[in-house]
Amino acid sequence: MYTLRPYQSDAVKAVLHYFRRHASPAVAVLPTGAGKSLVIAELARIAKGRVLVLAHVKELVEQNHAKYEGYGLNGGIFSAGLGRKESQDKVVFASVQSVVRNLDAFADQFSLLVIDECHRVPDNQDSSYRRVIAHLQTVNPGLKVLGLTATPYRLGQGWIYQYHTSGKVRTTETRFFRDCVFELPISHLLDEGFLTPAHVLDAPLLSYDFSQVSRTANGYYREADLEKVVANAPRATPQIVEQIVDYARERQGVMIFAATVNHAREVLSYLPAQASALIVGDTPSTERDRLITAFKQKALKYLVNVSVLTTGFDAPHVDLIAILRPTESVSLYQQIAGRGLRLAPGKQDCLILDYAGNVYDLYQPEIGMPKPDSDSELVTIPCPACGFNNSFWGKLEDNGFLIEHYGRQCQGYFEDEDGEREICGYRFRAKFCDECGADNDIAARRCHQCDAPLIDPDKKLREALKLKDALVVACNDMTLTAGKNRYQKPQLKVTYHTHEGNDLHEVWPLASKKQKQDFLARFVRPHLVDRHRPFDATAPTKVTASQHRFHPPDFVIARKQGRFWHLRQKIFDVENFISQDRLTALLAQSRGQAFAESDAS
Ligand SMILES: [Zn+2]
Ligand SMILES: [Zn+2]
Repeated sequence: MYTLRPYQSDAVKAVLHYFRRHASPAVAVLPTGAGKSLVIAELARIAKGRVLVLAHVKELVEQNHAKYEGYGLNGGIFSAGLGRKESQDKVVFASVQSVVRNLDAFADQFSLLVIDECHRVPDNQDSSYRRVIAHLQTVNPGLKVLGLTATPYRLGQGWIYQYHTSGKVRTTETRFFRDCVFELPISHLLDEGFLTPAHVLDAPLLSYDFSQVSRTANGYYREADLEKVVANAPRATPQIVEQIVDYARERQGVMIFAATVNHAREVLSYLPAQASALIVGDTPSTERDRLITAFKQKALKYLVNVSVLTTGFDAPHVDLIAILRPTESVSLYQQIAGRGLRLAPGKQDCLILDYAGNVYDLYQPEIGMPKPDSDSELVTIPCPACGFNNSFWGKLEDNGFLIEHYGRQCQGYFEDEDGEREICGYRFRAKFCDECGADNDIAARRCHQCDAPLIDPDKKLREALKLKDALVVACNDMTLTAGKNRYQKPQLKVTYHTHEGNDLHEVWPLASKKQKQDFLARFVRPHLVDRHRPFDATAPTKVTASQHRFHPPDFVIARKQGRFWHLRQKIFDVENFISQDRLTALLAQSRGQAFAESDAS
């Protein structure tokens, strides 16, 4: 039998707890080296009904089955590639391709379906995975589906699940896997000694400068762009390889991650020929298997590759990882470095040499946004609307004060007693529509509510500054005053107190239904701080009593009409949309302009 590590039994408990209450498919995130086979074994052992464990390649089916039987348990194998078609055992390990071709053999109920490397389950209903799942669900509508993966975040596709157990929404799009019920960070395994310690050496003197390379819309780097950087540093590669070989003297297995196929070939050409091999995307699979076996048996010391060697590749003795390519995400970085972190006899640590200025480390959680630059760090930003603690990239002063963060929208969600979920959706940065007051994503070009074009705050300011008779000033505060117009109809007067000390006024008539609606849309929405609490009062005294729930705009733009300044536009620059430098420059300009105006008058 076996003993679970504490986090493994936590994972099992989390899964059980979830499936007691929910029927929707769920994901557990376990990094490479976490021992997911033990989690599978325990779930299969305690499950009341039958369990099917699916993988997409025979190597994984075999590995999972071998570990399971290694714990003294018995399970069947259903895989054409392994020459076994046993579908009647209590626990069956199967390859998805074999099952989809033999659905008749799976006419009896399973209560739990476990999918290994579940990030491969596509949204496409016609895929093998989805057809197998649909079939099993027909046989047992109460089937529970659990996915296991180390990489829940995929470039171009995003998060493979929608909600995280911490109360975080990852995407507003529906996903096949609704919830992530358990997640173990790689840092935990490092801290607890379940992985080999990493010794990371940034090599700033000898390195490629990939910092100017831009990404595609999907977040990837283009091969041609990477090629250019490597080609522009012709002396770098031989020197880098020389250094790797130097560091590798006391090492057993070295994996080198190159930027492109040409780059990989060049790297290979400088390595000791008998001890090195290259694996690229179109290396034939027999050749690939032969090279990997030789590498695992230590007949080869250096293995160069371009795309990450992932599934089915498990060489625990690797103790030097050289990264010669920029990595697109924290996950990818950790996946690459993780190849060297498996425990192995006699292995003390893993040396990680970074020649590409990667800004990630092994302790960073994936937050689904590329790190903006090397100064950025993870910051916790509580949502003013729901209180959820968001994780965003941001910048801190030395004393720990927040300078700015790059988060756009609150990731919090709530679930009521009926299990209905509501996403908070508070926007830290928003473009407010001047027409209807709706808040829009900062990248939006048109209002999602009324389709009016949306203009960046920065552009609004620049345009206002071009106008001869415009006053552009930062707004410090505002005062609400309830009152009546000369016909004794209720109205609300709003006074904006500006940086320069001049006050600008705005009057909202609040008598007719139309006026009230207009006020709610165009005043309340953009000014309301706690937008999660509805505000529908339109009686002037009620509004003034709630003055604390409204914030002033960041800037006001006024135009001169006759002798008076008339408020024309309010600009909400939520969370430093306009940089501090820009703001200072704009204000200096506008102050100059305001003075020029008053001199002239
Ligand atoms: Zn929130
Ligand atoms: Zn609108």
